[in-house]
Amino acid sequence: MNDRQTVAVLGAGSTMGQAMARNLARAGLCVRAWNRTAEKARPLEDDGAELCATPREAAEGADVILTMLADADAVIDAIEAALGDGGGDGDGDRGGDGAGAVDALWLQMSTIGEVGTERCVELAEAHGITLIDAPVLGTKQPAEEGKLVVLASGPSDAKPIVEPIFDAVGQKTIWAGEAGSGTRLKITTNTWVLAVVEAGAEMIALAEGLGVEPGLFFEAIEGGPLDLPYLRLKGKAIVERNFEPSFRLALAAKDARLIEESAQRHGVDVPLFSTIRRRLAEGATDHGDEDLSATYLTSAPGA
Ligand code: NAP
Repeated sequence: MNDRQTVAVLGAGSTMGQAMARNLARAGLCVRAWNRTAEKARPLEDDGAELCATPREAAEGADVILTMLADADAVIDAIEAALGDGGGDGDGDRGGDGAGAVDALWLQMSTIGEVGTERCVELAEAHGITLIDAPVLGTKQPAEEGKLVVLASGPSDAKPIVEPIFDAVGQKTIWAGEAGSGTRLKITTNTWVLAVVEAGAEMIALAEGLGVEPGLFFEAIEGGPLDLPYLRLKGKAIVERNFEPSFRLALAAKDARLIEESAQRHGVDVPLFSTIRRRLAEGATDHGDEDLSATYLTSAPGA
């Protein structure tokens, strides 16, 4: 590994990807940034990142290709563009045909669910590259502060390559097992995240309907076992009607679909989650680009 590791960040203009790329550059890594809408990645130039016009240009010469994109289709499209058409033969000749061949580890950090991750495992095998499946826990602010929790999985011999990256973007890394285990842990944590927000949104809507000042609820739980910083964060956004996105409702609806998909695959009955999935999908129709907390507007459309 070079002293100065080179990381191609695909999705460098996304909420999460931009913050992560900035922290990588500030930690001294060499960042090659690509985003579909190039303009969104431009601020990274101030941190020394090199903007690239295509995924392929970003990937050439990189040690690691980091994907942080909306969903599985966007991830697969970007990585195929980065690696080129030629699948490798799995013997370490990594999909290249001579000059400009891409020989990098693939660090997949988007939330794409079990099926999406299985597609990535197959693609990595076809190209003879190593895949680390490492979605993250934490939203815009923790991403900006380098305080994400990384839910990593994949071969342990890749740890020395990816750990400097995890240290730059996160406060903690959990190694869950073989590639795919990180995604299964992410599905588990997202089940809790989305349930808390939907329950909090409905609770505040009902409180307002009852004529109960929501602040009294937060006073009632303050300091007790029911108190929860994340509920307070989203509760404040709802009460102030400030739905500036840190996690877009459209992406939350996507995550709820991934949870339900996994429940069905594994024969687990999650009726509460089927309802949450429907509610988030409904909210995303009109408020998909607002924050997840805007699910409140489905319960209180006149608010
Ligand atoms: P975001 O701000 O909504 O950005 C989405 C990114 O995906 C943009 O770079 C967008 O490009 C790109 N994209 C979408 N469709 C594409 C396509 N077909 N081809 C190429 N690029 C495409 O997303 P985010 O909030 O950073 O989330 C990124 C990933 O992290 C998602 O999987 C999300 O579920 C996960 N995540 C998010 C959070 C959070 O709190 N925000 C937390 C944990 C995990 P354009 O800029 O051109 O639109």
